[in-house]
Amino acid sequence: MPETIHLWGEALCLDYANTVDWSPDDEHLHPEQTDVLRTPDTLGRWGQRLDLLSDATLASADELCHARVLRDAVHCLFSSISRDKAPSKKDLEVLMSNYTQAVKHASLLAGENFYMLDWLAHDPRRIRYAVATDAVALLADPRRLARVSRCPGRGCGWLFLNTSGRRRWCSMTTCGSRDKMRRLHQRRTQHTD
Ligand SMILES: [Zn+2]
Repeated sequence: MPETIHLWGEALCLDYANTVDWSPDDEHLHPEQTDVLRTPDTLGRWGQRLDLLSDATLASADELCHARVLRDAVHCLFSSISRDKAPSKKDLEVLMSNYTQAVKHASLLAGENFYMLDWLAHDPRRIRYAVATDAVALLADPRRLARVSRCPGRGCGWLFLNTSGRRRWCSMTTCGSRDKMRRLHQRRTQHTD
Protein backbone atom coordinates (compact mmCIF):
# COMPACT_ATOMS: atom_id res chain seq x y z
CA MET A 1 0.00 0.00 0.00
CA PRO A 2 1.30 3.49 -0.79
CA GLU A 3 0.55 4.55 2.80
CA THR A 4 2.45 1.71 4.45
CA ILE A 5 5.33 0.72 2.18
CA HIS A 6 8.68 1.23 3.92
CA LEU A 7 10.81 4.20 2.91
CA TRP A 8 14.26 2.81 3.55
CA GLY A 9 16.08 4.15 0.49
CA GLU A 10 17.45 7.34 2.11
CA ALA A 11 16.87 9.07 -1.25
CA LEU A 12 13.61 9.89 -3.03
CA CYS A 13 14.68 8.18 -6.27
CA LEU A 14 15.63 4.98 -4.42
CA ASP A 15 12.33 4.90 -2.49
CA TYR A 16 10.64 5.25 -5.87
CA ALA A 17 12.61 2.28 -7.25
CA ASN A 18 11.60 0.33 -4.13
CA THR A 19 7.87 0.50 -4.91
CA VAL A 20 8.07 -3.10 -6.16
CA ASP A 21 10.28 -6.09 -5.24
CA TRP A 22 12.97 -7.17 -7.71
CA SER A 23 14.46 -10.47 -8.85
CA PRO A 24 18.26 -10.86 -9.10
CA ASP A 25 17.83 -10.16 -12.85
CA ASP A 26 16.05 -6.88 -12.10
CA GLU A 27 12.58 -8.12 -13.06
CA HIS A 28 9.47 -7.24 -11.02
CA LEU A 29 8.85 -9.93 -8.43
CA HIS A 30 5.25 -10.90 -7.50
CA PRO A 31 3.95 -7.53 -8.73
CA GLU A 32 0.38 -8.46 -7.84
CA GLN A 33 1.48 -8.42 -4.17
CA THR A 34 4.45 -6.07 -4.10
CA ASP A 35 3.85 -3.38 -6.75
CA VAL A 36 2.58 -0.15 -5.23
CA LEU A 37 2.39 1.77 -8.54
CA ARG A 38 -0.20 -0.43 -10.23
CA THR A 39 -2.94 2.15 -10.83
CA PRO A 40 -3.25 5.93 -11.27
CA ASP A 41 -4.85 5.95 -7.81
CA THR A 42 -1.94 4.25 -6.03
CA LEU A 43 0.60 6.39 -7.91
CA GLY A 44 -1.18 9.52 -6.66
CA ARG A 45 -1.39 8.21 -3.10
CA TRP A 46 2.33 7.44 -3.09
CA GLY A 47 2.97 10.99 -4.33
CA GLN A 48 0.84 12.43 -1.53
CA ARG A 49 2.61 10.29 1.06
CA LEU A 50 5.95 11.72 -0.12
CA ASP A 51 4.54 15.29 -0.14
CA LEU A 52 4.96 15.49 -3.91
CA LEU A 53 1.25 16.03 -4.59
CA SER A 54 -1.14 18.36 -2.82
CA ASP A 55 -4.28 16.38 -3.58
CA ALA A 56 -5.43 13.13 -5.09
CA THR A 57 -5.66 14.37 -8.70
CA LEU A 58 -5.77 11.19 -10.76
CA ALA A 59 -2.90 10.62 -13.15
CA SER A 60 -3.84 9.58 -16.69
CA ALA A 61 -3.18 6.03 -17.88
CA ASP A 62 -0.37 7.49 -20.02
CA GLU A 63 1.20 9.19 -17.02
CA LEU A 64 1.09 5.93 -15.05
CA CYS A 65 2.88 4.27 -17.94
CA HIS A 66 5.60 6.99 -18.03
CA ALA A 67 5.96 6.75 -14.25
CA ARG A 68 6.48 2.97 -14.42
CA VAL A 69 9.02 3.23 -17.25
CA LEU A 70 10.98 5.78 -15.20
CA ARG A 71 10.85 3.50 -12.15
CA ASP A 72 12.34 0.58 -14.08
CA ALA A 73 15.10 2.77 -15.52
CA VAL A 74 15.95 4.28 -12.11
CA HIS A 75 16.04 0.86 -10.47
CA CYS A 76 18.12 -0.76 -13.21
CA LEU A 77 20.67 2.01 -13.46
CA PHE A 78 21.31 2.28 -9.71
CA SER A 79 21.23 -1.51 -9.39
CA SER A 80 24.03 -1.66 -12.00
CA ILE A 81 26.00 1.03 -10.18
CA SER A 82 25.62 -0.85 -6.87
CA ARG A 83 27.20 -3.86 -8.62
CA ASP A 84 30.04 -1.70 -10.01
CA LYS A 85 28.68 -2.04 -13.52
CA ALA A 86 28.03 0.78 -15.96
CA PRO A 87 24.32 1.58 -16.33
CA SER A 88 22.76 0.83 -19.69
CA LYS A 89 22.54 3.60 -22.26
CA LYS A 90 18.80 3.00 -22.56
CA ASP A 91 18.17 3.55 -18.83
CA LEU A 92 20.24 6.73 -18.84
CA GLU A 93 18.29 7.97 -21.86
CA VAL A 94 14.95 7.35 -20.13
CA LEU A 95 16.20 9.27 -17.10
CA MET A 96 17.54 12.13 -19.22
CA SER A 97 14.32 12.48 -21.18
CA ASN A 98 12.34 12.72 -17.92
CA TYR A 99 14.87 15.18 -16.49
CA THR A 100 14.73 17.34 -19.62
CA GLN A 101 10.93 17.54 -19.33
CA ALA A 102 11.26 18.27 -15.60
CA VAL A 103 13.57 21.22 -16.22
CA LYS A 104 11.39 22.49 -19.06
CA HIS A 105 8.29 22.61 -16.86
CA ALA A 106 9.96 23.77 -13.66
CA SER A 107 10.15 27.11 -11.94
CA LEU A 108 12.86 28.06 -9.45
CA LEU A 109 11.61 28.08 -5.91
CA ALA A 110 13.56 30.07 -3.33
CA GLY A 111 14.24 28.29 -0.04
CA GLU A 112 15.82 29.94 3.04
CA ASN A 113 19.33 29.89 1.62
CA PHE A 114 19.02 27.88 -1.58
CA TYR A 115 16.91 27.45 -4.71
CA MET A 116 15.28 24.35 -6.11
CA LEU A 117 13.27 23.23 -9.11
CA ASP A 118 9.56 23.09 -8.42
CA TRP A 119 6.37 22.15 -10.25
CA LEU A 120 2.62 22.67 -9.76
CA ALA A 121 1.66 20.79 -6.61
CA HIS A 122 -1.47 19.21 -8.09
CA ASP A 123 0.19 18.01 -11.32
CA PRO A 124 0.72 14.22 -11.18
CA ARG A 125 3.81 14.66 -13.36
CA ARG A 126 5.44 16.32 -10.35
CA ILE A 127 6.22 12.83 -8.97
CA ARG A 128 8.18 11.85 -12.07
CA TYR A 129 9.89 15.22 -12.35
CA ALA A 130 11.00 15.24 -8.70
CA VAL A 131 12.25 11.65 -8.93
CA ALA A 132 14.21 12.30 -12.15
CA THR A 133 15.75 15.46 -10.66
CA ASP A 134 16.70 13.56 -7.50
CA ALA A 135 18.24 10.72 -9.54
CA VAL A 136 20.35 13.14 -11.60
CA ALA A 137 21.52 14.85 -8.37
CA LEU A 138 22.51 11.45 -6.95
CA LEU A 139 24.42 10.55 -10.13
CA ALA A 140 26.27 13.87 -9.87
CA ASP A 141 27.39 13.29 -6.27
CA PRO A 142 30.34 10.85 -6.23
CA ARG A 143 30.34 10.57 -2.43
CA ARG A 144 26.69 9.50 -2.20
CA LEU A 145 26.77 7.53 -5.43
CA ALA A 146 29.51 5.28 -4.04
CA ARG A 147 27.12 4.44 -1.18
CA VAL A 148 24.28 3.10 -3.36
CA SER A 149 23.69 -0.51 -2.29
CA ARG A 150 21.32 -3.30 -3.26
CA CYS A 151 19.79 -5.51 -0.57
CA PRO A 152 21.06 -9.09 -1.02
CA GLY A 153 17.90 -10.50 0.63
CA ARG A 154 16.15 -13.20 -1.35
CA GLY A 155 13.38 -11.69 -3.51
CA CYS A 156 14.04 -8.11 -2.37
CA GLY A 157 16.40 -6.11 -4.59
CA TRP A 158 15.64 -2.84 -2.80
CA LEU A 159 18.17 -0.05 -3.12
CA PHE A 160 19.42 2.24 -0.38
CA LEU A 161 22.20 4.65 0.50
CA ASN A 162 24.58 2.90 2.84
CA THR A 163 25.47 6.12 4.61
CA SER A 164 27.08 4.44 7.64
CA GLY A 165 29.13 2.09 5.44
CA ARG A 166 28.00 -0.78 7.70
CA ARG A 167 24.49 -1.37 6.38
CA ARG A 168 24.04 -4.59 4.42
CA TRP A 169 20.27 -5.08 4.32
CA CYS A 170 17.30 -2.94 3.35
CA SER A 171 16.32 -3.52 6.97
CA MET A 172 17.42 -5.71 9.86
CA THR A 173 13.75 -6.30 10.67
CA THR A 174 13.01 -8.03 7.34
CA CYS A 175 15.81 -9.33 5.08
CA GLY A 176 18.47 -9.07 7.82
CA SER A 177 16.52 -11.12 10.35
CA ARG A 178 15.44 -13.66 7.70
CA ASP A 179 19.10 -14.25 6.86
CA LYS A 180 20.00 -14.55 10.53
CA MET A 181 17.26 -17.20 11.00
CA ARG A 182 18.42 -19.09 7.91
CA ARG A 183 22.02 -19.21 9.12
CA LEU A 184 20.92 -20.27 12.60
CA HIS A 185 18.85 -23.06 11.07
CA GLN A 186 21.77 -24.16 8.86
CA ARG A 187 24.09 -24.27 11.89
CA ARG A 188 21.56 -26.36 13.85
CA THR A 189 21.02 -28.88 11.04
CA GLN A 190 24.79 -29.18 10.49
CA HIS A 191 25.12 -29.85 14.21
CA THR A 192 22.62 -32.71 14.18
CA ASP A 193 24.10 -34.36 11.03
ZN1 LIG B 1 15.83 -6.48 1.53
